[in-house]
Amino acid sequence: MATFIAAAGSFVIGIALPIDFPLNNLVRILDIVKVQKQTIKPTVTPTATPTLLKVNIKLKAGVENKQNQSLLKLDDNQPNLAIPSRFQGATVNRVKLPSQQKAIALTFDDGPWPESTVEILNILNKNQIKATFFMVGRYLKVYPDIAKKVAANGHAIGNHTWNHRYYQYNQAAAAKEIDRTTALIKEVTGMNVSMFRPPGGILTNGLAAYARKKKYTVVMWSVDSLDWRNSMQSLKQNVLRQTNSGGIILMHDGGGNRSNTVTALPSIIITLKKQGYKFVTVPELLQIQEKEMKNNHKNHQLVQNVN
Ligand SMILES: [Zn+2]
Repeated sequence: MATFIAAAGSFVIGIALPIDFPLNNLVRILDIVKVQKQTIKPTVTPTATPTLLKVNIKLKAGVENKQNQSLLKLDDNQPNLAIPSRFQGATVNRVKLPSQQKAIALTFDDGPWPESTVEILNILNKNQIKATFFMVGRYLKVYPDIAKKVAANGHAIGNHTWNHRYYQYNQAAAAKEIDRTTALIKEVTGMNVSMFRPPGGILTNGLAAYARKKKYTVVMWSVDSLDWRNSMQSLKQNVLRQTNSGGIILMHDGGGNRSNTVTALPSIIITLKKQGYKFVTVPELLQIQEKEMKNNHKNHQLVQNVN
């Protein structure tokens, strides 16, 4: 277990896991994933089912239900939208990947917004890449058709509160901001929301605390384009200078005039593609990290066995 914690630790720079996250359960989840995969193949081994039963019995009922739900989510028809259970209730601003694995996530906040959101969707489509949109409930109420387009194009959607204010929130007020927005996203797009981004990136005013309690992944960023205040040229330089593998890039599709963002985006995408970057949604980025941690754990076990 100590080696596993060390292995996990080396990959989790930049990620805040919940303090009480049970690491021994994680090892079991990974075992269940392995066994469940075997059971659906025709070449199932006779030991697969008993192993699964044994592992399941070991788990406490509540924990087991929650984990099985996450596993089911990984198997559904939208694999780019499922969040691995380790990141549910955690705060993430990037993931740490080996340098040869150049994956990054573009994120767009404060929409849906007339013109700019659709223009950004067209650019993403043209480049065949998927991104993540953090939507504001009161704009979604006005522009539901734009949000439907975002969902129909296969992008991930997160919650960015109803009103986008920088107040201090008690739990009831935070619940109203977040629950109402999640409910409307579900109603409009049919999507289950599992990511939250606090307005202004404020983590201490009660919103992020409520989101974590409700097991949302709180998604921050590692690359700030400052597109809301910068010229087109300097926003591009900002992004290119800060981007590295595993990064989450913050841009805006709504909340004001985003013509600079729309104009700079194609060139940012082309340049990063040339540098070998692959664009993924935030859930996909977390899935890549999950896989890395699993491999790293396996490698450590091998070393242990050899020793
Ligand atoms: Zn915002």
